[in-house]
Amino acid sequence: MNDLSSNLQVILGKIDMASRKAGKSSIKVNLIAVTKTQPPNIVREALNCGLSHLGENKVQEARIKKAEIESGIWHFIGHLQKNKVAEAVRLFDRIDSVDSLELAQEISRQATQFGKTMPILMQVNVSGEGTKFGISPTKAIELAEAINSLPSLELHGLMTMAPLVTEIEKTRPFFAALRECRDHLSRSTGLALPILSMGMSNDFEIAIEEGSTEVRIGTALFGKRISKIAREII
Ligand SMILES: *Cc1c(COP(=O)(O)O)cnc(C)c1O
Repeated sequence: MNDLSSNLQVILGKIDMASRKAGKSSIKVNLIAVTKTQPPNIVREALNCGLSHLGENKVQEARIKKAEIESGIWHFIGHLQKNKVAEAVRLFDRIDSVDSLELAQEISRQATQFGKTMPILMQVNVSGEGTKFGISPTKAIELAEAINSLPSLELHGLMTMAPLVTEIEKTRPFFAALRECRDHLSRSTGLALPILSMGMSNDFEIAIEEGSTEVRIGTALFGKRISKIAREII
């Protein structure tokens, strides 16, 4: 087995353990392979290992890879600029980082024009850190309702990133906060919002214990990112 497939086996084992611990062994946690900065041959290798969901955070980078790779379910997980929305709508299967009405409106407009219904997640900043993107939990209901009234958009759930902490256990309240935010939104809007995208390489087990349905993993699968590769392929 090469590194990727053995890393994958380890991660799948941990996902399974964490799901059991959360008492949800029957609910399958979806694994998004975060392929940002990885060259097309590595993306292909990931697909060959049976990974089908891919996470990218730059429109340009995804365009280059998608030109070579036909398969995969592509998730946009980065900060989306308005002038890149048209291309993002064409390239991606879901946009996981919608955090403002302006952005939602533009995605809706472009998706309508393109004749596509765009699945999206709302990114919520549960830690309140100024450096993080995402709507604040207190404004989430208003945005969810606004999104719900826009054409060609489907809100499937919420996404968050926990802050970097020294002790991993300290991420737990942030994941719990996203789950509570979803429950609250669901009750007040009547939307199902089944997806909770939370947990990365260092904290995915805790996220699953707190109700994550989808983890986004890069480093633990592919090893440390070398940003030079990204610059070379762009
Ligand atoms: C890079 C990134 C990840 C993956 O991070 P790792 O620590 O490498 O697993 C997950 N989510 C988002 C939004 C990212 O930008």
